[in-house]
Formats: sequence, C-alpha cells, structure tokens
Amino acid sequence: MEYYSPTDLNEAYSLLDKYGEDAIPIAGSTFYMGHREELFDEVEAVINIKQLGLSYIRQDDHGLRIGATTTLNEIFAHELTSKGTFGILAETVKELNINEVRNMATIGGEVCIAGEVDMPTTLLAYDANIVIGGSKGVREMSMADFHIGYLNNALEPGEMVLEVHIPQPPANTGAGFAKFERTAADLPIVNVATRISLDNAGACAEARVVAGAATLSGVPERSAAAEAALLNKVIDDTLIETAAVASGDIECIHDFRMSAEIRSLWVKCGIEDALQRAVAAVQ
Ligand SMILES: Cc1cc2nc3c(=O)[nH]c(=O)nc-3n(C[C@H](O)[C@H](O)[C@H](O)COP(=O)(O)OP(=O)(O)OC[C@H]3O[C@@H](n4cnc5c(N)ncnc54)[C@H](O)[C@@H]3O)c2cc1C
Repeated sequence: MEYYSPTDLNEAYSLLDKYGEDAIPIAGSTFYMGHREELFDEVEAVINIKQLGLSYIRQDDHGLRIGATTTLNEIFAHELTSKGTFGILAETVKELNINEVRNMATIGGEVCIAGEVDMPTTLLAYDANIVIGGSKGVREMSMADFHIGYLNNALEPGEMVLEVHIPQPPANTGAGFAKFERTAADLPIVNVATRISLDNAGACAEARVVAGAATLSGVPERSAAAEAALLNKVIDDTLIETAAVASGDIECIHDFRMSAEIRSLWVKCGIEDALQRAVAAVQ
C-alpha cells in the first residue's frame, strides 16, 4: 500500500483519478481507529488530505463555509461557531466527550460517514450543502441528496469533499441538539437537532426536526409530521409535545444496541429537549 500526503488540490485529484476506488482519502482517520484498520489492506493507496489548505471557518454573504479538514475542536473554539447564529455547531461537538477524537476528527469525515455521527444531523437541520471537488470540477449538493445510505454518500470515484456550506438562517432563529449514548466513549444511539425561525408575531415560520444515528435508512432524516405540527403556530410546551409525538414518521433501526421501539421513544424525548432549547435560543 502506498501513502501520499499531497499539498495541493490538483495533486490530490490526480492521485484520486489514478487509484479510483482503490484509494482512501483520510482526514482525521478516527473512523479507522481500533476497529476498521483492516480496511487499509483492501486498498492500494491512502491519501492524507490534511495538507490541502482545507482547514478554515469563514462567513460571507451566503452564510458560513467550513473547510473539510477543519477539526471538531476547531469548530468548538471558533468565534463563528461557538456562539450566536451558528453556536449550535459547538453545542453538537460538546456532546462528543472524547477530547482526543475531537482533536482529530474533521467535519468532512463526519459528513462522509453519515452513520452514527452527530454533525450531519445538525447540518441537515441547517439545510447545509456539501461542496465536492475533483479533476472534472466543483459541484455543490444538499446534505439530503449527499447521504444515500449507511456509510454511503454520493461521491463519485475521483471526488472528495472540499467544504460544508451552511446558508445564513432567517432572523429570529434558534436551534437545539440532544443526544443519547450508552457511555461517554460510545457512538450516538440517537441524536436530534431542531431549528425554528419565528415570524414577527412569534409564530413558527420555518421548522426543522431531524433525527440521526437511529434511523432505519442509516442517514439523518427530517420528520415532516413534526415540522408540520409546529408551522404557523406559537410554540409552547403542549405544541412541543404534539410535535414530538408526531415524529413517529421517522422509522428507527433495531440492532444489538437498542430496539426500534425504545429508540423511537428516545427520538421523541430528544425532540422535546431539542425544541425546548431551540425556543430558548431564538435570537
Ligand atoms: C471511540 C470513538 C467515539 C466516537 N464518538 C463519536 C460521537 O459520539 N459523535 C460523533 O459525531 N463522532 C464520534 N466519533 C468520530 C466518528 O466516529 C468518525 O470517526 C469521525 O467522524 C471521522 O472523521 P475523520 O476526520 O477522522 O474521518 P476519517 O476517519 O479520516 O475518514 C472517514 C471516512 O470519510 C472519508 N473522508 C474523510 N474526509 C473526506 C473528504 N474530505 N472527502 C472525501 N472523503 C473523506 C474517508 O475516506 C473515510 O471513508 C467517534 C470516534 C471514535 C474513535
């Protein structure tokens, strides 16, 4: 197996083209720690993408842009993502209790996995887009289209994730994140992210209710029924409970860690918790 550490994107693209599906791009490489090292034996090349200048957090007229190799702890500490409009990103990182992993794992790695990880759930609640690059050019697609199944995404051979783009949300927006895991070092069993935007009369003008890590589809999903329950109404405790109960349209997975029934209950509890936080956070 060959190891490469390209320092510019064209070099990275030509390596990705050369090896195609026989190469793994790695960022923090935490996905392989402890339980998946054998995957390295199945490929001809490992391409370290951390020297490509893709570690940054910027804001422009179109919203927030986070480079693919930005680590979770960089997101946790940055002024644009630790408070204010996008402070929910740091709230999400805070729920991952292993500092060593937060120092290494990147936002690009999180979105590429889309399984038992936290950030894609929050990013879907913010209508994030994924910026993808390769020798044929750059394209952008929604998170919803990017995730096509458990550990499966829409990247074509030769492509990599360059950036996560989060559009500026409307004024009067608040968000909340909730997570359940067995131990502090475990992967999430259920996570939930909510985002609400209020109109001038205080009614809910836009709602996102997303559950991840728990879904039968293996990727984060919005609850259309919970969102519909909130729209055009003033959100109070009763409405929050109604929305949580409505979230049964998200089908949960049954596996060795938890039954689908219990997971579904935890999704409802998570939605209540995350909606309470979103209401309190409206600014
Ligand atoms: C013990 C432990 C507990 C954890 N707990 C949690 C948790 O509770 N919540 C949570 O959110 N995360 C958790 N993680 C982290 C999570 O499981 C993944 O390991 C992490 O998200 C991967 O990020 P990475 O940068 O290390 O990606 P890597 O391991 O480098 O790569 C992961 C995958 O993405 C691909 N990839 C990475 N970057 C790109 C890119 N830019 N373009 C194309 N492909 C790319 C790789 O080829 C690989 O297939 C935990 C990890 C460990 C080891």
